[in-house]
Amino acid sequence: MSTTYHRPRTGRPHAAPPPPRPQRSPAPAVLAALYAGGAAVLASWWTSTPTVTGAGGWLTGAGRIAGLLAGYACAVLVALMARVPVLERRVGSDRVARWHAAAGRWTVCLVAAHAVAVLAGYAAQDHRGVAGEAVDVVFHYPDMLIGTAGGVLLIAVGVVSARAVRRRVSYETWYHLHLLTYLAVFLAFFHQVSLGAQFAGDATARVVWCLLYGGAGALVAWYRVWTPVRLNRRHRLRVAAVVPEAPGVCSVVIHGERLAELGAEPGQFMRWRFLSGRLAGTSAPYSLSAPPRDDALRITVKAVGGHSAAVAGLRPGTRVWAEGPYGALTARRRARHKVVLIAGGVGVTPLRALFESLPARPGDLTLLYRAREAEDLALWPELTAIAEARGARVLPLLSGADATRGVLTPDGLRALLPDIAAHDAYLCGPPGLMADAHAALRSAGVPGRRIHHESFEL
Ligand SMILES: Cc1cc2nc3c(=O)[nH]c(=O)nc-3n(C[C@H](O)[C@H](O)[C@H](O)COP(=O)(O)OP(=O)(O)OC[C@H]3O[C@@H](n4cnc5c(N)ncnc54)[C@H](O)[C@@H]3O)c2cc1C
Repeated sequence: MSTTYHRPRTGRPHAAPPPPRPQRSPAPAVLAALYAGGAAVLASWWTSTPTVTGAGGWLTGAGRIAGLLAGYACAVLVALMARVPVLERRVGSDRVARWHAAAGRWTVCLVAAHAVAVLAGYAAQDHRGVAGEAVDVVFHYPDMLIGTAGGVLLIAVGVVSARAVRRRVSYETWYHLHLLTYLAVFLAFFHQVSLGAQFAGDATARVVWCLLYGGAGALVAWYRVWTPVRLNRRHRLRVAAVVPEAPGVCSVVIHGERLAELGAEPGQFMRWRFLSGRLAGTSAPYSLSAPPRDDALRITVKAVGGHSAAVAGLRPGTRVWAEGPYGALTARRRARHKVVLIAGGVGVTPLRALFESLPARPGDLTLLYRAREAEDLALWPELTAIAEARGARVLPLLSGADATRGVLTPDGLRALLPDIAAHDAYLCGPPGLMADAHAALRSAGVPGRRIHHESFEL
């Protein structure tokens, strides 16, 4: 088994590829289904509420609506993070993570609104203070003590996830606190069924609600627990070699059995847990930096913090626990023959794999690679070898170099590629570079649906 990647396997470089047929993203259909679920929840409140009277009645009604929507959003939150392949690979992990974050913000607001409005409504109906009503409800209503604990936990996780707080805690701390969401959702479930007015006397509604939560739980058990166990038992991954690529950047070649069965595609990433010392405690996402082989996968890692810096010290033979493949930055998105790939720093990794493997005629592929200095251009020898073998172009964009300044502007792109508007674009790099490149491509005439990008920040 080889650990060498410097000689790209390019197949028949001059064979004319078939016209690309872009795979449509299921994102609009998934979003429509999620909103339809929310509308069905509202409809269930409408049909189960014959009349609403007085300020207390309106407050209680508003609280119930907020509670129902929060309950629905909790199931959606869990399902979105279950790493379901159609979401992770066709919608895209970064987009799903953004939906999850947005749903999380809504959930926290709805839970708070539910508690406040229901308590205020009950207090108004009973002609007593809100504090006394709260004590009564929490301590005497069925399942309300654990329901309250679940709600408080959910709000606490939401606060820790808020951008300002998240920046101050380590990823590991945030991640482990975030796992408490499962406990919070579990605790909050029971009071929904025992106290929800629309479930009282309506067995069908109760069954549907239980199926909703059972389904979300089953997705988590299947895709986050069983699927990784099966993958790692089947493929038996181990570190084969660690190769320095540039200052602070190294590649890790990972050997395993029957890796073609993973179905990994160039441009995708996996989550890696190296079973060695402190690295064993964290699983981190790294893209495949070369097209996957049946016996080996390769990642290329830049040292930015504790985990990534320790990767350079891995020893051959170290066992690896992996999950995936995930990500939608693949050839399936492509709609045109011509492709420009724009990489910033270590964002070159998924684009390196695509540069080698995207079916293309000579002249179809251009890779623009932004780095600070020439020595920071990780994987450069491979990229030039691929470019030569495929009749493709690779251009370094170095921060201090006058010659390439202004390439990532609409005029710069048009000067370099006069038919830029007829290209697909793949972007990966720091958020600032991606935003600038996206804006320049749009102004140069590339439609948004043909700009494909991946963020390294989930
Ligand atoms: C889809 C995807 C693909 C990536 N591919 C590559 C790659 O090919 N090469 C590469 O060098 N880097 C890649 N990254 C980035 C890499 O995962 C982080 O740089 C690495 O996890 C940093 O960990 P750290 O503990 O060393 O640094 P820290 O200082 O702890 O974190 C640095 C940054 O990375 C984020 N981060 C840390 N751990 C994780 C994690 N487990 N999951 C998500 N974000 C995390 C933190 O929120 C912080 O923003 C990728 C990230 C994503 C989301």
